[in-house]
Amino acid sequence: RTEETLLEVNNIEVIYNHVILVLKGVSLSVPKGGITALLGGNGAGKTTTLKAISNLLHSERGEVTKGSINYRGEPVADLDPAALVKKGVIQVMEGRHCFEHLTVEENLLTGAYTRSGGDVAADLEMVYDYFPRLKTRRKSQAGYTSGGEQQMVAIGRALMSRPECILLDEPSMGLAPQLVEEIFTIVKDLNEKEGNTFLLAEQNTNVALRFAHYGYILESGRVVMDGPAADLRENPDVKEFYLGMS
Ligand code: ATP
Repeated sequence: RTEETLLEVNNIEVIYNHVILVLKGVSLSVPKGGITALLGGNGAGKTTTLKAISNLLHSERGEVTKGSINYRGEPVADLDPAALVKKGVIQVMEGRHCFEHLTVEENLLTGAYTRSGGDVAADLEMVYDYFPRLKTRRKSQAGYTSGGEQQMVAIGRALMSRPECILLDEPSMGLAPQLVEEIFTIVKDLNEKEGNTFLLAEQNTNVALRFAHYGYILESGRVVMDGPAADLRENPDVKEFYLGMS
């Protein structure tokens, strides 16, 4: 491929608690301006891969024991999550993680903390343009909004750091199909209009392959297949094992 590679994961191994080998040599490359999907079933290692990239494994007693991770050609394995956000990479964690007692708008504003300068008010308007639901709910306590709205808050808060690359963990989790569609449509819009690059982990192969440009399929900590999303959608094995048709 000729596109510029933004993020590159080279043959990483991750071990939890010094003994449990979970990633067994995962490599992937995320092109600038693309939507790349990391697919696979429960426990395949998707979340672990994202956390390895954003250096969030330590609190879970996990570590990268082999391989390397580069962002714009520079090694980032030693950067803490905040330093990585400054470089333009932010992770939206699985399960949304809003500050439940803060309002929707206060949650969004917490996302601007790591920045130095910039027009925070304009960015807030930008987030509300993409998520009109959040504008109507901006004074509501986040804990009382729906699951879909909380997912929107989590993505919106990430946007407030003006990221170049967003690592999105399981955005469809627990949401009704219509909301999943709404959220993926916004991701696609952000990608096309704001130029955000996405690496998204999804168990919902069907929806992910409709919106992503490229996909990697993980099984037991290894990439077993990768290719353009359109090719994966037509692949007989993907159809049988991941799309539920044969
Ligand atoms: P899910 O959709 O369930 O999040 P996943 O593909 O994201 O699945 P991971 O969460 O990365 O998978 O988990 C991969 C494997 O690592 C699983 O077998 C899981 O049990 C194991 N694992 C995850 N976190 C830890 C931990 N802190 N300590 C030990 N093992 C862990």
